[in-house]
Amino acid sequence: CGIVGEVGNDNAVELLIHGLTKLEYRGYDSAGIYVNDEKGNDYLVKTKGRISELEKKIGDDVHGTIGIAHTRWATHGIPSEANAHPHVSEDGRFYLVHNGVITNFKELKEEYLQGVKFVGETDSEVIVQLVGHFAKEGMSTLEAFKKTISVLDDGSTYGILMIDRENPETLYIAKKKSPLLIGVCDGFNVVCSDAMAMLNVTHDFIELHDGEIVELTANEIKIQDANGQPVERKTFHVDEDA
Ligand code: GLU
Repeated sequence: CGIVGEVGNDNAVELLIHGLTKLEYRGYDSAGIYVNDEKGNDYLVKTKGRISELEKKIGDDVHGTIGIAHTRWATHGIPSEANAHPHVSEDGRFYLVHNGVITNFKELKEEYLQGVKFVGETDSEVIVQLVGHFAKEGMSTLEAFKKTISVLDDGSTYGILMIDRENPETLYIAKKKSPLLIGVCDGFNVVCSDAMAMLNVTHDFIELHDGEIVELTANEIKIQDANGQPVERKTFHVDEDA
């Protein structure tokens, strides 16, 4: 339902929780956050219920420079902690949040993921398990991410953010029929499903189009279209009272 991500800012937790709170009005049944400090420490906190519950569960030690967070409005699988995002690949390497619906998730599970242990029942978990599966076959993270996106069927909708904990300075982003914007900041970058979530840190946003894939780092925004061609796009300005 609500998605926020951040790369390059020392206060990832604060920034992401603020963002989720701004998206609260859309409604949700659970919430979760994953942050990584790029020094080998990372934290996954999820809860059923309110963002205030999530905040209570976030200990003082939880910190990061890169992170993703999500408020879930369940479509597949009951509202529960296990079904809350972020979801994790079986080997604990990839962390992912997803807005939307993957219509062929059962078929994909059958075709590629027999024997893989799932934590919950969401369609979203299939996405991150697929990335893990393709990475194990020897693909780079970007290749595994793109391969995964390519097997999601036409009816699927998604805004996706992913972090590879073995290489935690990049946010991997994909979008189709679910809103996602890059927020351009000074020394770091953010991504969100609604500009409102990040107006405290930027007013300059880049719109993403369906089929595009982004590698986002603290100081680089690398967009490619569905054919792998690089995309250049100007920012647009969002006013405070937008
Ligand atoms: N289909 C996903 C789920 O049920 C994502 C729902 C959402 O957009 O919040 O977990």
